[in-house]
Amino acid sequence: MGLADLHIHSTFSDGVATIEAILYHASAHTDLDVIAITDHNTLAGALLALRLADDFRIEVIPGMEISTKEGDMLALFITEPVAAGMTFVDTARRVRELNGLPIAPHPFDILANGVGARRLRRIQQEHPGLIAGVEVINGSLLTRIGNLRAEKLRWELALPGVGGSDAHMLEDIGVARTLFAGRTAAELRTALERGDVSPAARKRDANYYRRSALRFALRMGLGLAHTLEERSGEERIRMRRVP
Ligand SMILES: [Zn+2]
Repeated sequence: MGLADLHIHSTFSDGVATIEAILYHASAHTDLDVIAITDHNTLAGALLALRLADDFRIEVIPGMEISTKEGDMLALFITEPVAAGMTFVDTARRVRELNGLPIAPHPFDILANGVGARRLRRIQQEHPGLIAGVEVINGSLLTRIGNLRAEKLRWELALPGVGGSDAHMLEDIGVARTLFAGRTAAELRTALERGDVSPAARKRDANYYRRSALRFALRMGLGLAHTLEERSGEERIRMRRVP
């Protein structure tokens, strides 16, 4: 079985880790075989990761998290960017035209802008075969109940369920993952198309919640800044006050 994290953000959108740091961390400090770089409304980071991936153990899937009119969409396996602001269906069609796989991330998460159950049901009814899967384990903190509801919905809609960390920091990469038959990105694609995947979660370490609280404070603009630095092979987030 292979392990993939299908939902990772870098400094190309609102993540704090660079593409190089993500590739290094995922290769050296996780058991993942494949990662997808899915920055908000840009493919640039993913394409950079794809170019650099030969130097690392990990395989890369290029992707984006696209802001549609009706919630976010994960687009996997695309090598051309897709514009934000279209309907969910039009966006998914465009992703399919580009030979990509459109996935509904965190469908129930209001804060993270999920597409919602009612709309997903209707889309699956009116456009069967368009949506490639549902993210039923999202690694971000506030979606426990949302994950359970997403899992139920994916069975109802008979769509493959995947796991993605939605990592914005190195430490979160791999906290939610997708198990698939095989080891490579190509095998992952085949497994996704067959529905031969299953989501899984990794237990978090004790410091996770402390870091999350700090990070939340940072994002709310409480006068702190953060830098990421690599020290003796171990990545850590350093907090310091803005002068
Ligand atoms: Zn995300």
